[in-house]
Amino acid sequence: MPKKYQFELPFDVDLEKFVKKTYPEIREYRTVSKSLDARGAPRGKKPIYHYILDALVREEDKFPGAQQFPKLKGLKTKPIIIGAGPGGLFCAVRLAEYGIPSLVIERGDDASKRMLHIAKFWRYGELDPETNVCYGEGGAGLFSDGKLITRIKSNLVGYVMEKFVAFGAPPETAYVSNPHLGSNKIRTIITQISNWLRDQNCEIRYNTRVDKILTDGPKVIGVELSSGEKIYSDHVVLATGHSAQDLYHHLEEIQVAMKPKDFAVGVRVEHPRRYIDSLQHGSFCAAPEMGSARYRLSWHDKWTDRGVYSFCMCPGGYVLSSGTEKNGIVVNGMSNYARNSPWSNAALVVSVKAERDLKSSGLMAGLNFQHEIEQKAFELSKKYATGRELPAMTIKEFMTGKLDDKPLPKTSSPSGIFKADIRQIFPDFVVEHLRKGLKEFDSDLPGFIYEEGLLIAPETRTSAPLTIIRDKKTLISASHQGLYPCGEGAGYAGGITSAAVDGVKCALSILSQEGLLTEV
Ligand SMILES: Cc1cc2nc3c(=O)[nH]c(=O)nc-3n(C[C@H](O)[C@H](O)[C@H](O)COP(=O)(O)OP(=O)(O)OC[C@H]3O[C@@H](n4cnc5c(N)ncnc54)[C@H](O)[C@@H]3O)c2cc1C
Repeated sequence: MPKKYQFELPFDVDLEKFVKKTYPEIREYRTVSKSLDARGAPRGKKPIYHYILDALVREEDKFPGAQQFPKLKGLKTKPIIIGAGPGGLFCAVRLAEYGIPSLVIERGDDASKRMLHIAKFWRYGELDPETNVCYGEGGAGLFSDGKLITRIKSNLVGYVMEKFVAFGAPPETAYVSNPHLGSNKIRTIITQISNWLRDQNCEIRYNTRVDKILTDGPKVIGVELSSGEKIYSDHVVLATGHSAQDLYHHLEEIQVAMKPKDFAVGVRVEHPRRYIDSLQHGSFCAAPEMGSARYRLSWHDKWTDRGVYSFCMCPGGYVLSSGTEKNGIVVNGMSNYARNSPWSNAALVVSVKAERDLKSSGLMAGLNFQHEIEQKAFELSKKYATGRELPAMTIKEFMTGKLDDKPLPKTSSPSGIFKADIRQIFPDFVVEHLRKGLKEFDSDLPGFIYEEGLLIAPETRTSAPLTIIRDKKTLISASHQGLYPCGEGAGYAGGITSAAVDGVKCALSILSQEGLLTEV
């Protein structure tokens, strides 16, 4: 059995040298956990890493081997997985590990070709409604920071991290407290995953959109593609992400059980990276070991029972135009593995309560709410720019409520920005809470209200505004047998890792429905 070692080290001390000198009895070790504590850095306290190692000391000690899965007998029909985002792909991976091939249907292009479509959108405003920042192999996470941190508690998180490493992620992904892959690495990893799936006899159909779920009474029996082709299966995994608005409408028509869900909307805040680094890491900010600084801010307004929080922080990243519809603007963020652009950005969002804030109690009210904001942003862009650029104002202008005559500071966004009073895009409660939230954040992280910081709008697709209701144990739709609502679009995930975990759970559920696995 490996022995555990736990200790702290100043951030600039080499682990390998330290272990050799301090624990000469260790023959070999693996890092199990590494987390940075830089909380005291702004006051001059040296940041430290907390380490946990598994180490081999005695001759007979060995590290456990990789998990092996028994090959199970084939199913009567190939499971259909709609969507090749992390949810869909990890569902296919886990099924394939048990020897069960699946058919993955993806409306967008493969990961290696997505950039061609997206570059046209960012540069010329030509949106491809089928392949864009949210649609295509790798899903919404392909042009992301590739943060893999998750708040969910599941023993499948470790499995997902190890799979990422097996498909080419840096080994640290499995043990650092805040793993991230960056958009450049995640793109190659996703391609490795799909190549492996094809080697396991899975089929991935790109540029193929599912328009209908086929039913026989309360049972799902397959799917119909936009070409009219029908494909039948006993198991249909719906992993279409939170932007697949057309499918939500179809699900409502065929009476799949759904309910409105709370979500959040707001802006992207962008600061110079060096500035955030110095706020967070003080005099240590220039040390290469420290990397680009992160922050996470949140405040709950107890009078209105509403949360304001930062989300999806991208240190050394880029603000992206990430819409999926021609008449709407949506922003999001990404970074590369090195996190070395001159800017750092994050979403700053305000919670939207379905029951309280939406105009109707209809299932599509949340989608309509998002859409209205996205459309207003697009109309502004058409009026003051070309429809491609993103509306923005400085933090100072937002806080004072007045646009000044100065040009906007430079931005990371490849789509460009234009000056506008972004407050007109949002309902009053969003503006008011963003203003209060910014004040609170400035006292938690003094200097956060940086006058030349930018607020770029609107960040509307933080999560799905609906839940597709499923059985807690079997994960099958509450209304339709054979349908497995999966991942973020179904309301069961909020990021790459949790969507991947949910995909694995759906795979296990399919196997258990077939009586091939007893424990899920
Ligand atoms: C720019 C950006 C940056 C992000 N950064 C991060 C980050 O750093 N860390 C993090 O954890 N999360 C991040 N996220 C969120 C994360 O990407 C999602 O939570 C995650 O991808 C959800 O996975 P999913 O598989 O449930 O859905 P998705 O990734 O949305 O995948 C759904 C797939 O289904 C396909 N599809 C939709 N409709 C159909 C149809 N009718 N027929 C066939 N295919 C269809 C889509 O094309 C898409 O590929 C980011 C998101 C964006 C947009």
